[in-house]
Amino acid sequence: MEFRDLGKQHERIAQSLDAAILKAASSCHYIMGPEVRELEARLAGYTGVSHCLSCGNGTDALTLALKAWGIGPGDAVFVPDFTFFASAEVIAAEGAVPIFVDVCEDTFNINPEDLEAAVREVEAAGKLMPRAVVAVDLFGLPADFPRIRAIADAHDLLILEDGAQGFGGSIEGKIACSFGDIATTSFFPAKPLGCYGDGGAVFTSNPEWAALIESYRVHGKGENKYQNVRIGLNSRLDTIQAAILLEKLNAFEGWELRDVNAAAEKYTARLKDAVKTPLIPEGYVSSWAQYTIRLESREQRDIVQKALKIGGIPSMVYYPLPMHAQKAFEALDRRECPVATRLCDTVLSLPMHPYLTEEQIETVSDAVIAAL
Ligand SMILES: *Cc1c(COP(=O)(O)O)cnc(C)c1O
Repeated sequence: MEFRDLGKQHERIAQSLDAAILKAASSCHYIMGPEVRELEARLAGYTGVSHCLSCGNGTDALTLALKAWGIGPGDAVFVPDFTFFASAEVIAAEGAVPIFVDVCEDTFNINPEDLEAAVREVEAAGKLMPRAVVAVDLFGLPADFPRIRAIADAHDLLILEDGAQGFGGSIEGKIACSFGDIATTSFFPAKPLGCYGDGGAVFTSNPEWAALIESYRVHGKGENKYQNVRIGLNSRLDTIQAAILLEKLNAFEGWELRDVNAAAEKYTARLKDAVKTPLIPEGYVSSWAQYTIRLESREQRDIVQKALKIGGIPSMVYYPLPMHAQKAFEALDRRECPVATRLCDTVLSLPMHPYLTEEQIETVSDAVIAAL
């Protein structure tokens, strides 16, 4: 059994996908070819924002947003303590200070109450300028944007939605990657919408920020590529990856998002009485980048994971370490985040993708229950 079966996905769309790859290969427009613009237009349409700019990966997408806002030394940026390292890394890489915020135990996403507390702490200390919050759509579930927006407005913060795992999710019909002042996603192969290598995108409805990001992604270009008005990066999406993503987006919109939600429902029906299953709040839709259960203790989690492994079932611990415990951040003043710390000890992500069969879900669920 695969944790995320990319082979099955390829098989299902191989004909049209291989044709699209060959077409991009023979067209020779390898950099910023027509497929790149076509994809950007489709992604903007899908999410309902006015500008989508593709780039090299999801980490660069976050960096491009911070650069567009001029975030740097002296600035504080709030970020959940329970996330993939890149969400916080990019803040420090720009010379700003990441402030770690605890998460909600049942949704895994940033806790608005602790966000408000953290902002007040930074304001009271008076050393750093609170500028932005990175709200992560962890495991495919959009963060609590209604409450985050209220806090951001009250404290003059920008919202950067890290939708690397969130593409396809929604709140009351509003689609993820449209909640942040700027939002980003990643097309890393295992994300909800993945390409066949690295890729990412930035979303915004602000034309000035979009123009800045367009410049930053090509060496800070001005009127043209050889007139450079700011220090940027080289971060473009390859034409061939855009061609792949156009086909993958058909599958994602056609059946994958529906089927992965059906798989989640089946898991939850089988597991809800045995373990803590993921909570999807009323009105929210997840794109299920992960299906993550919670066990009672680290010991119990490790026992279950070991039993699965013996049964030939892959599982993953996302994430084993909270941000505040990462060595790379040891020089920072770090806040206590007890929920994030507990989650790192008790979470377990099970095999999850749109091509899971009923039988596989039964096998995994039975193995979890048997291990308990
Ligand atoms: C994967 C991921 C990223 C980084 O995306 P890359 O394309 O791998 O650079 C950033 N944030 C989160 C939450 C992620 O899961």
